[in-house]
Amino acid sequence: MNRKPCRKLTVKHALVWVILLAMPARSVASPHSPRQAPGSRLADNPRVRAALDWFTPNISWVNDQQARITEIPAPPFQETQRAAIVKELLGDAGLAVQIDKAGNVVGELRGANEKEIVVVAAHLDTVFPPGTDVKVHRDGSRMTAPGISDNGSGVAALLALARALQFAHVKPERTILFVSDVGEEGEGNLRGMRAIVDNYRERLKAVVVLDGSGTDHVTTKALASRRLEALITGPGGHSWSDFGMPNPINALVRSSVRFINTKVPASPRTTFNIGQIEGGTSVNSVPHEARLKVDIRSESEDELTRLESALRECIIAGVRDEMDSARDRSKGKLEWKVELLGSRPGGELPLDSPLLAALRAADEIVGNESRIERSSTDANIPLSLGIDAISIGAGGSGGGAHSLQEWYDSAGRETGMKRALLTILGISGVAEEKAR
Ligand SMILES: [Zn+2]
Repeated sequence: MNRKPCRKLTVKHALVWVILLAMPARSVASPHSPRQAPGSRLADNPRVRAALDWFTPNISWVNDQQARITEIPAPPFQETQRAAIVKELLGDAGLAVQIDKAGNVVGELRGANEKEIVVVAAHLDTVFPPGTDVKVHRDGSRMTAPGISDNGSGVAALLALARALQFAHVKPERTILFVSDVGEEGEGNLRGMRAIVDNYRERLKAVVVLDGSGTDHVTTKALASRRLEALITGPGGHSWSDFGMPNPINALVRSSVRFINTKVPASPRTTFNIGQIEGGTSVNSVPHEARLKVDIRSESEDELTRLESALRECIIAGVRDEMDSARDRSKGKLEWKVELLGSRPGGELPLDSPLLAALRAADEIVGNESRIERSSTDANIPLSLGIDAISIGAGGSGGGAHSLQEWYDSAGRETGMKRALLTILGISGVAEEKAR
């Protein structure tokens, strides 16, 4: 996608700042903060402008960091090496950085008001297993490598935001935590973000998640999902001499056919996917076990619960059918269990939230329009607990997420970074005095 490069602020732009930011200023004000909203002050804050001006001349630095980070493997549950580099880079940007117990990198930019925190987060992990070739191939502004966009672009933008604020000596009103978190993908089950929300819950006022590329959307609705594993076991035996004994694969197939015929509503949108199925040891053995993994998602928690029960009922029915048709039950029967591998809670940001107002104001400044989306991201955790959160792209464009052909094009990425910066400062506020 082509994106308009963002021009330097002109007089006309300055006017737009004043006019547009004057409006949302009240709604940006936090009920928790006695101070006036930062929106109107942002408009004529020279340090904020200096921070915004940092991006364009530093695009190649940002691209280089993105390539460097992407080339450090970060499979699920193996983010340590990448975390160490991100820690160093956030430290270089003048932040006090730690790695917490969960493995998250947490860099603090202390605000005038330390009692209130705004988190900006970009997940460290990728979906790719150890051994995946993560070498970045560059061709002009385009880079290709697994994880380059999701979430190489988010982590690079996180570093750039910290750098820009350092360069311009911006001191926020509320403390900003720059977080690069573990466990966003798959069976990581958002464990990094869960730890962040746990650790800072009392002080946490807003979370801005940078995930993937683009500037076209803002995720304000958290898609609830559950991942389940069904396991069926039996005595196992020989394909000829033990023919007729209950077969776990047969039972699993019977269950699966029932399950995929389950009716789900188009609204609230509800989906299911059998993503993995395995079992058996050889073609001439009655297997002793079979398992499948299912991902279910819905706009409604009730539908999720209904679908989870449907899966259990289908497993029970499949096992019963297989037992009923087995002519040799002397060596034992089938056992089954269904386990929850992961659960991502749903939630929604209220339309009148100060965070959404800050994003909208930022969009106006950079000449962008955002479509509201529902998706499953790190923002699920704060949203499910009633803490304001959004997930946005880090700018530029990309595609092929979760595939080996994943690509990222940095053209116009400064728009995304400016948008993120203005959103974060819109919600954190900017303190009067200069940071040193
Ligand atoms: Zn991601």
